[in-house]
Amino acid sequence: MTAQIRGNSNCAVNKLETRILRPRRVRVCFKCENEVMTERDLEGKNALVTGASRGIGRAIALELAARGAKTALVARNEELLQTLARAIDGFGSQSIYKSLDMRQETFVVELSKWLKAEDFRVDILVNNAGIYSTDYIRFDQPDSWDETDPADNELWKATLAVNLTAPYLLAKIFAPQMIERNWGRIVNISSISGQKAEAYGSAYSASKFGLNGVTQSLALELARHGITVNSVCPGWVNTDMAQHQINDPQWCRLNDINPEESLDIARFSVPQMRLIEPDEVAGLVGYLCCDRAKGITGQAINICGGLSIT
Ligand code: NAP
Repeated sequence: MTAQIRGNSNCAVNKLETRILRPRRVRVCFKCENEVMTERDLEGKNALVTGASRGIGRAIALELAARGAKTALVARNEELLQTLARAIDGFGSQSIYKSLDMRQETFVVELSKWLKAEDFRVDILVNNAGIYSTDYIRFDQPDSWDETDPADNELWKATLAVNLTAPYLLAKIFAPQMIERNWGRIVNISSISGQKAEAYGSAYSASKFGLNGVTQSLALELARHGITVNSVCPGWVNTDMAQHQINDPQWCRLNDINPEESLDIARFSVPQMRLIEPDEVAGLVGYLCCDRAKGITGQAINICGGLSIT
């Protein structure tokens, strides 16, 4: 990140712990209250962000827009996308948005037609949309598999479709546009669960392990075209997804956790004893998208408060 520090220069070490004062250009350091100026270093770039309606995706869209990128925002909830687009407009950056359901592979046709009609070439692709559901082996029901019921497999199919197939397809569709300009950034929002599996999340872990594999393959294929491809692997992040998992009675029961203590147990499993904030993940993605990060490719970068080393 190109940052200019005002006042006490010690706050440079805290630059990932800044909060947004005004959506953006000016950030304030949490620790020393100094202002940190962020340059519009992505001016002239177009960024497609999936899952932008809330959580980490929303924070990433704000980060990239604040750095000057024009953003294309995608998720299912159109109302939330519209609110985000208004916020982006409020601080002088452009955005477009579209409601799409990424569970069906056909969404890519609709998406690419829309971006073509909007004359929006993709320089930066952030594959952030994701879903998690608790999934487990039913020891108590040996004959539970009903091969005539297609719903039996729905959780697995939907998780792989949104978390793995969609990022792969989008990279395949938009990488040629990046190759043409010899510049591009693909950032896949993976997870610590893509490196170390968790119980009762087979589909989720499979999708995130897979996504890290896709990241490495594409990084090798695109390395000579000025395109970097990286995975960002968060631990617990303070969003709807984490809240749902922590408050899921089934997940608590399977993990033998008292639902009332569930949040504390999640928090204390992290060496920093806290959940990561979406803005922190967004700051890392913003850095990966800038020119100075051109040497980082094929990596799975953890942002997890130390969870990965426990
Ligand atoms: P979130 O708050 O649940 O947001 C998920 C986003 O994905 C929403 O914008 C949602 O929008 C979109 N989405 C979900 N299903 C979709 C579909 N079928 N079609 C289109 N968009 C869809 O989750 P989050 O925590 O911000 O997660 C963002 C990413 O970070 C995910 O890839 C997740 O796996 C990863 N991650 C999260 C954590 C964590 O602790 N929160 C940890 C590690 C990794 P709509 O509902 O409007 O469609």
